[in-house]
Amino acid sequence: MKTKEHQTADVVIIGGGTAGFGAAVAAGRLGLDVCLLEAGNKVGGVMAFCPGMPWGAAYPCDAPIGGLMMELADRLIAMEPPAAEKRLCTLENFGSEIQYDHDIATVTMFEMLEEAGVRVHVNSTAISPIMDGNRISAVEYFDRTGSHIIEAKMVIDCSGDGDISAKAGVPFTLGDQDGNMMGVTLTFLMMNADWDRVFAEEDPYFRHYAANGIKEGRLHEDLAQLYLMKGFHQDSVFCNSVVIRNVDGTDPIAVNEATQEGRRRCLQLSQFLRSDIPGFENARMTYLGPTVGVRETRKLEGIHRITGEELAQETKFFDGIVCCDNPIDKVMADSSEMTHDAIVEKGAYYTIPFRSLVPKKVENLMFAGRIVSADPIAFASVRGMPQCIIMGQATGTAAAIAIGEGLAVQRVDAHTLIKSLQTQGVKGLGSEPLCTA
Ligand SMILES: Cc1cc2nc3c(=O)[nH]c(=O)nc-3n(C[C@H](O)[C@H](O)[C@H](O)COP(=O)(O)OP(=O)(O)OC[C@H]3O[C@@H](n4cnc5c(N)ncnc54)[C@H](O)[C@@H]3O)c2cc1C
Repeated sequence: MKTKEHQTADVVIIGGGTAGFGAAVAAGRLGLDVCLLEAGNKVGGVMAFCPGMPWGAAYPCDAPIGGLMMELADRLIAMEPPAAEKRLCTLENFGSEIQYDHDIATVTMFEMLEEAGVRVHVNSTAISPIMDGNRISAVEYFDRTGSHIIEAKMVIDCSGDGDISAKAGVPFTLGDQDGNMMGVTLTFLMMNADWDRVFAEEDPYFRHYAANGIKEGRLHEDLAQLYLMKGFHQDSVFCNSVVIRNVDGTDPIAVNEATQEGRRRCLQLSQFLRSDIPGFENARMTYLGPTVGVRETRKLEGIHRITGEELAQETKFFDGIVCCDNPIDKVMADSSEMTHDAIVEKGAYYTIPFRSLVPKKVENLMFAGRIVSADPIAFASVRGMPQCIIMGQATGTAAAIAIGEGLAVQRVDAHTLIKSLQTQGVKGLGSEPLCTA
């Protein structure tokens, strides 16, 4: 068994979700030697755990945010037949989103990582940083052959939960001000549903059917809102409905128990859809997620903590690295409701600042994705997958600048970073508006 063997990389990226994908491709394309550690066997993170989950918020004020998000989407859209398309979300305040073929998207993401020269280590879990003062000198991780140490000039934590950042001493809070975390969700697809009849229903949550099922004890009481949407493929329906509350997503045992409870509720729901909702009579359940998707755990402390007020004021930060208009997408943190109130006026947007991806002290660590430094309201808006990809892209780009200039991440020049992101096709940054209201 190999143990404690030394490896090196310019950048070690922890987690191959949407943020890790963006960080790795950007850093690899800028000539860095990148090692991506992913605990699971696939890239995507929540996208892999909830197959069929649309990419939301890629079009604030109906204009594409650009960057690696749109490059990935455009590659899929250009395929014959197309493997992705832009569609209007059926829920208020979300605008357009991108639906795609899950498997083709996964293959394409692995291809983009390969093309960027990224060394992808799947089934590899980072367990601790090795500190040298205010720097991480190496990361310890394990795979089935044993534990390994990889030395790194730069570490980007894209793990969603921020275990390594927390162990490196970055302060954090868990969940909202009361410690509540949004519910976790197990998803599935129903194949062979008759779209015309299923979606003849006006209410996107199918509330009156659900109420009946709950009253008769055939549905769990937390299923009052059945969020069903057209899947990418004709006659497939994506079921983003089964939410388990009060689960600490940093506790693997709690996540496993929630997943098993989710499986039971998904089976119950699929049977209910067939028996009660017109158009599902001949449908069957498929693509049940391998584990629940976790929305919210740690919120790391960055140089800047984004607040809900700043977003509501449509703030365009001087170091804004991606545009966003996502509503406050709150899922059963403190009640059994899913809500999605608008955070900005229709047609308006805000940007996410680079400083919310940079810790105050550790000099060669950044974080991206859902562990962005944000208060609970801002968090509920900024966490969409398109924004996570570009938060990652910004940190991968900043890593190249910091390593090239021998700087601590806190000293990366925002102007240089934004210029580089603009060259990479990210829209709406600096003095360039995404759209005029
Ligand atoms: C149920 C649900 C529904 C959602 N709906 C939508 C939607 O419709 N549209 C949308 O755009 N967004 C949606 N979101 C939000 C979005 O999916 C997430 O915010 C986003 O995917 C987070 O991306 P991430 O890369 O930051 O983290 P994650 O997707 O959580 O990825 C983190 C990755 O890191 C890996 N990892 C963790 N720890 C380690 C470690 N120590 N070592 C190595 N690897 C590690 C994990 O295995 C995982 O692959 C939803 C989220 C959930 C949970």
